[in-house]
Amino acid sequence: MVKTIYNFNAGPSALPKPVLEKAQKEFLNFKDSGMSLMEMSHRSKVYEDVHNEAQSLLKELMGIPEDYRILFLQGGASLQFSMIPMNFLSSGQRANYVLTGAWSEKALKEATFIGETTVAASSKGSNYTFIPEASTWSLQPNDAYIHITSNNTIFGTQFQGFPDSLKSPLIADMSSDILSREINIENFSMIYAGAQKNLGPSGVTVAIIKEDLLSDKKENIPTMLNYHTHLEANSLFNTPPTYSIYMLRNVLEWLKHSGGVSEIEQRNHEKAASIYEAIDQSNGFYTGHAERNSRSNMNITFNLATEELNKKFLALAKERGFVGLNGHRSVGGCRASIYNAVPLEACLALCDLMKEFQKKN
Ligand SMILES: *Cc1c(COP(=O)(O)O)cnc(C)c1O
Repeated sequence: MVKTIYNFNAGPSALPKPVLEKAQKEFLNFKDSGMSLMEMSHRSKVYEDVHNEAQSLLKELMGIPEDYRILFLQGGASLQFSMIPMNFLSSGQRANYVLTGAWSEKALKEATFIGETTVAASSKGSNYTFIPEASTWSLQPNDAYIHITSNNTIFGTQFQGFPDSLKSPLIADMSSDILSREINIENFSMIYAGAQKNLGPSGVTVAIIKEDLLSDKKENIPTMLNYHTHLEANSLFNTPPTYSIYMLRNVLEWLKHSGGVSEIEQRNHEKAASIYEAIDQSNGFYTGHAERNSRSNMNITFNLATEELNKKFLALAKERGFVGLNGHRSVGGCRASIYNAVPLEACLALCDLMKEFQKKN
């Protein structure tokens, strides 16, 4: 008997149970080949079908238009922090970053190694409790692109909407909220995400890039770091992380059968609302880190009145089978990561625990 746990890990994080069961069933003998998919050539027809299906499911689920290309890359979202300026920042231009947390800071840092950068807006002064309004961003005519982090995994804030009439290409790190809600892809020139939060296991990074942005091919960057290398080879230039892409395909299939993005968005909203309600109705026993109008539906950050209470709460949670609730060291307190695969029941169990703990303390 596997003991019941509630998985609130920030990443890698919970995967849908049916996806894990399917992988288990197919593990030793994939499609009657007598082999595991992991043992097959990435040039085989069997693997290629999986690869292409992952792409077409993503296209269908996100409503990706014909003039966007989908890439499967390695090196995590972190390598995109370097590849983006390498491919899209030229001399005489500046890369413009909206700073809303630790991941945007890291993205900016990598761009400074490549070229000129600037900061459009930042909420660092408040320890990243909010998302600066697009109307306040400082934009320049020579911005090569504007980079945002749509959901701030560590601080628990999330863009509630996106500007739609920027003069420069908008690039978004959606690692922790891709496919969690409906978005208009056409607001973006590029979206990227490490898979291990909402898309599957670690090992593959998805990049969705508008062809316009790719029109100027740079020749002076290393082959593996040039988007064109992967575009021209359908992300099969070298050996891709085949098993991660297989799992990605299965997660996308699960999402489709669960009713697609609009249905999952509804569920995510209900899940997050239940926990925010527990915070808001606690008369200050629990306090949220994020300002209300910037709250994330994926990562919920909150604190108790003292460090001692935080510790006591986390100890009880651990005893009851709650995993991954410790807040990141830069925020402290608690964080519940409730990505697509986390069921409503886990969120309701957390609410019950919060209420029980408050009563006793
Ligand atoms: C987790 C995370 C990253 C880092 O992803 P890696 O795949 O580990 O490089 C980057 N950005 C955001 C928003 C994240 O949540």
